[in-house]
Amino acid sequence: MNNYSYKYGKNLYLNITNRCMMACPYCIKHKWAGKFRGNFLKLDKEPTVQQVINSIGDCTKYNEIIFCGYGDALIRLNEVIEISKWLKSNKVMVRINTAGLANRYYNKNILPQLKGLIDVISISLNGSNPQEHNKLNNPMFKEESFNEILNFAKLAKYDIPSVVITAVELPELDVAKVKEIAKTIGVHFRARPYLNEYEEY
Ligand code: SF4
Repeated sequence: MNNYSYKYGKNLYLNITNRCMMACPYCIKHKWAGKFRGNFLKLDKEPTVQQVINSIGDCTKYNEIIFCGYGDALIRLNEVIEISKWLKSNKVMVRINTAGLANRYYNKNILPQLKGLIDVISISLNGSNPQEHNKLNNPMFKEESFNEILNFAKLAKYDIPSVVITAVELPELDVAKVKEIAKTIGVHFRARPYLNEYEEY
């Protein structure tokens, strides 16, 4: 039994890394000790492309397959591309959830590499200005991260059919302001519930 993929609802989620470009104090990977709704997502070792594909099995039985584990999958860009090629060859919907810092991390625009492979990109923006974003999320590129994420979301519109900015309903965050930012740059918006108490399912 491995933890490279896990089911939730009618979707399958891929947990390909525990590394992340942010160190959010509210991250449930710390609070929930690596557990998530009946799964244990802490990886001893990052899986290979083939190990992830083997863990998926019949990918056509899910509504959507989503890169979303206890880390940011774009930190393993090459593996995301290879796994997505296989998923798209099976005609399934593919989404990726990300912190939106990959272009800064790789120092180039990586989004064209995802064209035709990713249907939806969900970018978390938990902050309405650089200072607040830095304080709430402890990102790798500190206060520069906020504008990097906005630029990433704007560029994503050229290569990904659906771009969504998401904000966690943190008690200290004005989610309405983030929604307004998403509207200004012309992408969708979705609020996510703040997960605090551990949920078994
Ligand atoms: S971006 Fe997500 S996975 Fe990364 S530290 Fe923040 S909450 Fe955790």
